[in-house]
Amino acid sequence: MTPFVVAYDDELAGRLADLTVQLAPSPRLAYKVMQAEDRDRGGVLWARTERGPRTGKPQYGLMDPERQREAMYDLLCQVCSLPASRTKEGWLFLDWRMPQDPPSWPEGSLTNMPPLCVECSRVAVKECPYAREFTPLRVGLPRLWGVSGTQYRPTEEGWELDNSLSWLPYGDERLSFVVASQLIRELRRVTVVDFP
Ligand SMILES: [Zn+2]
Repeated sequence: MTPFVVAYDDELAGRLADLTVQLAPSPRLAYKVMQAEDRDRGGVLWARTERGPRTGKPQYGLMDPERQREAMYDLLCQVCSLPASRTKEGWLFLDWRMPQDPPSWPEGSLTNMPPLCVECSRVAVKECPYAREFTPLRVGLPRLWGVSGTQYRPTEEGWELDNSLSWLPYGDERLSFVVASQLIRELRRVTVVDFP
């Protein structure tokens, strides 16, 4: 089964021609014709994808912005999109240590990977080549932290894109010129557990 959050090659990214700069109350990116889901509650503009029937070729290294956002926001399983497993200790996440993680890892670390249900976590561990590096966590407070995305600068020749931005917290002034493609949560009240 292809995980819910994985992107397909026939889901095209939103067209550059749809972007504009909105001047008031302060300059920021917008779509020429805004739709309800285009901004999140933090005011950040989100990438648009054309939601197809998921019949194309799965792009396993890439997550679809809309489905990643939905799974991360609603704490749905990233594989089957049913509610993620939750116990008294919190939601089930699989995480692995990365160089940028705080020394307190896993407490206070950031993740772009939505949680999982118990069944899919078993499958993921069996099938994923990086499974040995996973640590199962129960997270009592997965706090909405920010986004990752692409920065767009308007120039006379058109839009200049910068994909090298690090993850940005809500409130960062650079977000006015970012189109978000992943929702990031900060893992708080973390307990390392055994595989369920
Ligand atoms: Zn699942």
